[in-house]
Amino acid sequence: MQAFRAATDELLWQFDPGVPGAVAAHICCDVVNRGVAVYEGRVYVGTLDGRLIALDAKSGKPAWSVLTVDPHRPYAITGVPLVARGKVIIGNAGAEFGVRGYVTAYDARTGKQAWRFYVVPGNPALGFENDAMKRAARTWSGEWWKDGGGGTVWNSFSYDPELGLVYMGTGNASPWSGPVEGGARGDALYTASIVAVHVDDGSYAWHYQTTPGDVWDYDADQSMTLATLRIDGQPRKVLMQANKNGFFYVLDRVTGKLLSAKGYVPINWAKGIDTATGRPEVVADAHYDKSGKVWLGMPGGLGGHNWQPMSFSPDTGLVYIPAQEAPFPYLKDRDFKPEAVGVNMGVDLAATSLPQDKKVKAAVLASLKGFLSAWDPVAGREAWRADHAGPWNGGLLSTAGNLVFQGTAAGEFIAYRASDGAQLWSFPAQTGIIAAPMTFSVDGRQYVTIVVGWGGVFPLVTGELAYKSGRLPNRSRVLTFALDGKAALPPVNDKPQEFPAPPAAPQDAARVAAGAKLYARYCGSCHGDAAHSGGIIPDLRYSKALTDDDLWRVVVLQGALVAHGMIGFEPSLGAGRLAEIRSYLIARAQESYAAEKAPPKEPSATPVNDP
Ligand code: CA
Repeated sequence: MQAFRAATDELLWQFDPGVPGAVAAHICCDVVNRGVAVYEGRVYVGTLDGRLIALDAKSGKPAWSVLTVDPHRPYAITGVPLVARGKVIIGNAGAEFGVRGYVTAYDARTGKQAWRFYVVPGNPALGFENDAMKRAARTWSGEWWKDGGGGTVWNSFSYDPELGLVYMGTGNASPWSGPVEGGARGDALYTASIVAVHVDDGSYAWHYQTTPGDVWDYDADQSMTLATLRIDGQPRKVLMQANKNGFFYVLDRVTGKLLSAKGYVPINWAKGIDTATGRPEVVADAHYDKSGKVWLGMPGGLGGHNWQPMSFSPDTGLVYIPAQEAPFPYLKDRDFKPEAVGVNMGVDLAATSLPQDKKVKAAVLASLKGFLSAWDPVAGREAWRADHAGPWNGGLLSTAGNLVFQGTAAGEFIAYRASDGAQLWSFPAQTGIIAAPMTFSVDGRQYVTIVVGWGGVFPLVTGELAYKSGRLPNRSRVLTFALDGKAALPPVNDKPQEFPAPPAAPQDAARVAAGAKLYARYCGSCHGDAAHSGGIIPDLRYSKALTDDDLWRVVVLQGALVAHGMIGFEPSLGAGRLAEIRSYLIARAQESYAAEKAPPKEPSATPVNDP
C-alpha cells in the first residue's frame, strides 16, 4: 500500500505486508488487490495470504491485524473490505482450488470478530451453523464439503444503510464441472448468487441465485450498483448487476425480488430468464458436465463483464458496463481428481487449448470483443457503445459533468460524453489498463486519478489470445490528471524479447501429449494457454531451463524461485512427469520458432517498476 498526497505526487508512506511468494500458487487469477476501505482515520486492507490489516491513515502504522482464513487451505483475499456500522467486512477467494467461501465482520476499532456468514453449507454430520445452511444443504449432491463447496466472495460489497443490509455476490461452486462423485450438481446454494445479510449480526435476509447449478464459472461477484429507478411509474430501490453470465439483473433490494433480466451481450447457455420464477431457461447442450462433449459457452468464464467496476449516472439514467465477448470451450475432465497443488476446476484445459492452426487462431481471435456498453436499465437495452480492440478493459467512472472515463487494454485512457458516447479526449498510458479511475477535488481543483498497469486473469491464462486486446508491457503507475496538467510520461524504449533457438532434438510424440495434459493442469493457469504467455509472466518457450536439466529440476520440482511465486511441484510431479512437461515445452518452442523464423514482436515479460 502506498499513500500519496492527493494534489501532488508526494509519497507519504508505504506499507508492505510481507506476503510470502508461495501464496501466488493458490491465486487463480493473478496477484491482485481490488481496493481498500477508509474509515475514521484508518485504512483497511486484505492481504493475499488472508490477513485483514488496519493501518493508521496518516502514518501507515498497523493498528491491528487478524488472520481471516485457514492457512492450510488455498484461501486468498483479492477483494476489497466494506466498512458499515463500525464493522469491517471481508470475503475471500479460492473456489478454483476448492475452499468453503465465507464473509467475516470484525470490529473496526479492535479487530475482534463480530460474525461470520458461510456461503455454502459444511459437512452435515457436523451440524449446520444456521437455518440458511440447513436449507442450502438440500440443494447439494455428493460429498461437496470435501472440495470445500466454493461460493467465494472475492470482489466487493454493496451496503444500504437505511435497510442495514450488506450485499455480496458469490462465486462458482467447486469444482466447475460438478461433483467429483455423486451425480449432477443441484442448485448448490448460495453459490453464483446475490445474497443480502443483516449488517449487525450477519444473519441471512434474502438471496437471488443468478445461475442455479452453475458449471460455467458464472460467479456473481461483479460490482452491484444501488440506485432508485422509476419502474412502471413507481420509484424502486434497486440493486443492479451486469452478471458474468451475460444477463443484466435489476432486483428489488428490499426483498430480493427479480424485476428484470436482459442479455447485455450474446448469450447461448440460456434462452432467457423466467421472471415469475427468476430461473434461467438453460439450453440442454450447455450441460457439458452431462453430455461429455465440448460446449462453446457464450459468455465464457471471463464473463460478459467481470470484476472491473461498472458505473451509474443518475443524470443520464445509464449504467456504463466494461463489457466483452469471450467464448470459452468447456469440456469435462474425465480423469479429474482434486489435488493439493494447482487449480481444481474439473475441466480438460489441455484438450481445449488453442490449436496451432492459423485459420482456427484467426477465427478464435475474431470472436473476442471488448466495448463500453451504455445500458438503459429501465428499458433493458443498450443506448450506445464504444468498441475497443479486444476484451479485458478497465472499470468505469461517470461524473456529474456528463463524462465517462475508461482505460483500455490497448493503453488509452479515454473520456466520453456520457449522454451519447462521443469521444472527447484520450491519453496514451504506455501500458494496458484494467483498474477504474476516481475523481476528487482539493482546494477547488478537480483531479482524475487512475492506477494503470496490465494484468488479471485474461493475460495470465489465455496466453496468445490476450494480444488481441493490446501488446503493451505492464508498467505500474499512478496517473493523475487536471484540466491544466502539464506533466508528460518518460519516452518508451521497449526492446522485443529474444526468442532463443530451442533444443533441436525431436521430441517423442507420446511424451509431448502427456506433457501437454500436465502443462494444462499445473502450469497453464499462470504461464498461459498452449505454453504461450500473455505477457505478464515468463513465457516458458524462451526459458533457459529447457536446455539445462539441473536448472529445470531445482526450479520446477524444488522451488528455487519460490520467492517470486514459482513454487516447487515436488508433491505432484516426479522426475518422469517433469521430463514430459519439458518435452511439451520444447516441442512448442520448436513449432513457434519454425513458424515465426524471426524473434516475435512481443512485449517483455519483465515488469517495469517505475515510481
Ligand atoms: Ca470463479
